[in-house]
Amino acid sequence: MTRRYDQQHREALGAQLHLPLAERTCPLCGHMAMRVYHHTTYGRSEPSWINYLWCGDCHAYSSSFTCPGRKMVESDPLLAEFGDRTGEVFDEPGRLLKVLDGYWKAGKLPQVISRRRRGR
Ligand SMILES: [Zn+2]
Repeated sequence: MTRRYDQQHREALGAQLHLPLAERTCPLCGHMAMRVYHHTTYGRSEPSWINYLWCGDCHAYSSSFTCPGRKMVESDPLLAEFGDRTGEVFDEPGRLLKVLDGYWKAGKLPQVISRRRRGR
């Protein structure tokens, strides 16, 4: 069942930030199956990331917005497949997580994160 992590779950996840993703446990079901996906959006000035952190086992998730600064993802399988319709997939979290799980199994996630060079 797809459901959002509540405040307490998010705090439990926050306490695991020092661990590699593969070693973090889901605060809801206890499985070590955390997955992450970043989608870049281009606002008026800086690019920002929509981040999804979810459990591949119970499909609990949280989403957030962050400023990636000079970090960038080298690929976005969701955008590559859905293009202009990417926003529609975000509107349906159950569908989104199923699609992202498929990318994870296919090795397209997690994304490679690189650093943008200075001077641009
Ligand atoms: Zn879980």
